[in-house]
Amino acid sequence: MSEVCSTRKERALSPTPPHPLLGARVLVTGGAGYIGSHACLALLEAGARVVSLDNYSNSTPEALRRVRALAEESCAARGAPPPSLDVVEGDLCDLPALRAALRAHPVSAAVHFAGLKAVGESCAQPLRYYHNNVTGTLTLLRALDEAGARRLVFSSSATVYGDPERLPIAEEAPLRATNPYGQTKLTVEDLLRDLARADARWVITLLRYFNPVGAHPSGLLGEDPAGPPNNLAPYITQVAAGRRARLQVFGGDYPTPDGTGVRDYIHVLDLVEGHLAALARGAGGGEARAYNLGAGRGVSVLELVAAFEHASGRAVPYEVVGRRAGDVAACYSDAARALRELGWRATRGVDEMARDAWRWQAQNPHGYRSAQEALS
Ligand code: NAD
Ligand code: UDP
Repeated sequence: MSEVCSTRKERALSPTPPHPLLGARVLVTGGAGYIGSHACLALLEAGARVVSLDNYSNSTPEALRRVRALAEESCAARGAPPPSLDVVEGDLCDLPALRAALRAHPVSAAVHFAGLKAVGESCAQPLRYYHNNVTGTLTLLRALDEAGARRLVFSSSATVYGDPERLPIAEEAPLRATNPYGQTKLTVEDLLRDLARADARWVITLLRYFNPVGAHPSGLLGEDPAGPPNNLAPYITQVAAGRRARLQVFGGDYPTPDGTGVRDYIHVLDLVEGHLAALARGAGGGEARAYNLGAGRGVSVLELVAAFEHASGRAVPYEVVGRRAGDVAACYSDAARALRELGWRATRGVDEMARDAWRWQAQNPHGYRSAQEALS
């Protein structure tokens, strides 16, 4: 008993150690997007000074307004200084605009989320995808280099593994792209590897995301796809909400336990915590080091449907249809390297992902738009 009491007393007396990113000045490209908005909030809560750069091609400034409000609330509740968030509207491919932004808002590091991400669209518009994702990154690197901000975390994707030969997938697995979107990720990874090798001042971390799902538990931030969702989780929530009649399950004859596709779903809050760990602990040393950010667990389409039915208390009607072109049967990560080297691992399960995603959908049936905007 006395031991417990003294431990409690020590805990009460010893102040929480400051977050390693306290006071860091960080550029977040794509800060208004799904993952970027959650990352801006997590960085602000860690005490970093954040500059968001976004052209709102797939997002709205409303997301950043909510990030600011949530950060103010959270800082006030903890007695921390008010958050520092600068919001810049600008395009990655516009070098003069990037230079001006970095002159006005100096940073020492960047988390680079901005990019186009729809696989089907990338097949139809490859030039647009290469320009935005590859030229945009080159332009950003030039501006960061000139500004002496040579610490970078890049949003890569498990798509760089193509159709995996072995499961779970470790970072040493062969890399290959199967569509123009994936090729832009691989091309940027290659150029970042070359840059890190050539100039030891750069500290570059490549984060390969598996399948991000979920939303901020406040229900104020979440994924807001334009048009019918391509991804499974937002499609399911829209079916549960009655916005769409039924889910089409792409393929019921895969060599998986229930015949449907298996993926590694990861809560967006876990994902952004991986970015903070990479920013704080990314080592450089002539290598752009890659890390899988996944939960390391395969979940089938029907298992995810069941989790959402449970979270929403609603039925999610579905029909099994043919396979979607280009899909692999199963894809899940070996995330041991991130644990070993960054001290990061995913802690939230599919039930929490489904609950948070459903709360976001229920509270924001039209995403960040009002019902009136959605009609017009
Ligand atoms: P998102 O579309 O919600 O966010 C991307 C943001 O970048 C948007 O706000 C968009 O307006 C902005 N943007 C795009 N091009 C820009 C440009 N040229 N200049 C300035 N801003 C620009 O996407 P997300 O889901 O948040 O994804 C973030 C990153 O993570 C992307 O690079 C994506 O490829 C990568 N990724 C996402 C997933 C996923 O399933 N969401 C999986 C793997 C990798
Ligand atoms: N999927 C599905 N119906 C949909 C969307 C996706 O059955 O409307 C399946 C898809 O075939 C895959 C899984 O859900 O097995 C995840 O697909 P998503 O597009 O979300 O991620 P990715 O395939 O890029 O990993």
